[in-house]
Amino acid sequence: MATDNNRFQAIISHCKEYGFIFQSSEIYDGLSAVYDYGQWGSELKKNIKDYWWKSMTQLHENIVGIDAAIFMHPTTWKASGHVDNFSDPMIDNKDSKKRYRVDHLLEAHADELEKAGKKEEGEALLATMDKLLAADDMAGLKQLIEDNKIKCGVSGTSNWTDVRQFNLMFSTQLGSVTDEASEIYLRPETAQGIFVNFLNVQKTGRMKIPFGIAQIGKAFRNEIVARQFIFRMREFEQMEMQFFIRPGSQKEWYEYWKEARMKWHQSLGIPADQYRFHDHVKLAHYADAACDIEFNFPIGFKEVEGIHSRTDFDLSRHQEFSKKKMQYFDPEINQNYIPYVIETSIGLDRCFLMVMSNAYAEEDLSTPEKQDSRVVLRFAPKLAPIKLAVLPLTKKDGLPEIAREIMDECKQSFRCFYEEKDAIGKRYRRQDAIGTPFCVTVDHQTKEDQTVTIRYRDTMQQERIPINKIRELIEKQIL
Ligand code: ATP
Repeated sequence: MATDNNRFQAIISHCKEYGFIFQSSEIYDGLSAVYDYGQWGSELKKNIKDYWWKSMTQLHENIVGIDAAIFMHPTTWKASGHVDNFSDPMIDNKDSKKRYRVDHLLEAHADELEKAGKKEEGEALLATMDKLLAADDMAGLKQLIEDNKIKCGVSGTSNWTDVRQFNLMFSTQLGSVTDEASEIYLRPETAQGIFVNFLNVQKTGRMKIPFGIAQIGKAFRNEIVARQFIFRMREFEQMEMQFFIRPGSQKEWYEYWKEARMKWHQSLGIPADQYRFHDHVKLAHYADAACDIEFNFPIGFKEVEGIHSRTDFDLSRHQEFSKKKMQYFDPEINQNYIPYVIETSIGLDRCFLMVMSNAYAEEDLSTPEKQDSRVVLRFAPKLAPIKLAVLPLTKKDGLPEIAREIMDECKQSFRCFYEEKDAIGKRYRRQDAIGTPFCVTVDHQTKEDQTVTIRYRDTMQQERIPINKIRELIEKQIL
């Protein structure tokens, strides 16, 4: 059984063993902080994505979706501030040549202090760090590292370079000529694809403020410390929504989206006490208020989603750099203005890790007669990669034929899985391990009365139901 400490490792191993997530290009020893989703991982990821898309667009009449390109005109990133500001303070150890993010180094030290019973000292350290980060005081940060005698985990020395800012954007060349003008970036966030299309969507969709534009897509960041599985990747996916509002109404809409997003999280079947809000001390260059929704991962409470009041920063900057007016005429107040924006931004991969961490359970099923245990993924049925497994008890006596008919009836409506090999108990356990909420078994009685046994993943209880009720029963559970 996994203890709290090795639960994270157990989840990572389970993801690999059961076809959820593989290291990218594993046969070449992998690529650091890049991952591939396997047969069941890609289904789970798609279900999370579809659920977010539906809640944002289908269930909000005033939110529409777009799908912008990853490559954008390089001026986009000058206007957005990413060329100048999208960087983290880093420090290198001269002996090991290892590079660290300064905030990660100090946070790890604060954790050690807390473990050593010096919680208050740890908290004071983090408070000082926050102040120095907010003031962009690089020399002060280095001094803090030296004062705390922080050592490199690899070389064991405190032989540090100065603290420097390191830009996280990946760049590449467009076309075959390598000159500076053709240098472009892989987008580090999907949001800018929304801002540059604000007028296109507003005009062609005849959208009236308040309205939102949603997008799901890949983003790329050259993260320095990237060793927490899919929590921090160099290539990842974001689900973002920019909500355009009248200036002055941002406080009200910020509160509205904080509450709406927290409700969405709980609708994934995850208990409320597994979440908390974290208000930002250091606000990003574009924000007038910002918070994170944090989830209780096996590695502690960490950000899964950001909610940011972005003011009119992005649209104003695009107006300035492109010389195109980004204004909206508001007929209700008879005024032109650049809209303010509330953004909700969630990482799809981080959301996947959250759903997986919440679902993963190791259960001891031992009785006085027999030792037994199982690993089960308790996904909300609507998110589960497979909804129904259809299992003929034996390979003969016409049972596979009936099972195939059930497959044909159900697979039009939801993802089903057919299997006839191995004892039924073993087959149930394999379905538990990939989180299938329902299994039906076709046995000899089925031939007589057209009923099957349905087994529920979470309770392991079984009951008989008529074949012609299977589809309806499951459809109701996966809404
Ligand atoms: P962090 O502080 O963890 O680096 P951030 O505050 O820079 O994250 P945002 O720019 O607000 O993150 O991005 C919004 C969301 O995108 C985050 O809440 C997270 O879920 C996701 N995200 C950001 N960076 C990564 C990454 N490297 N790998 C996976 N998901 C990420």
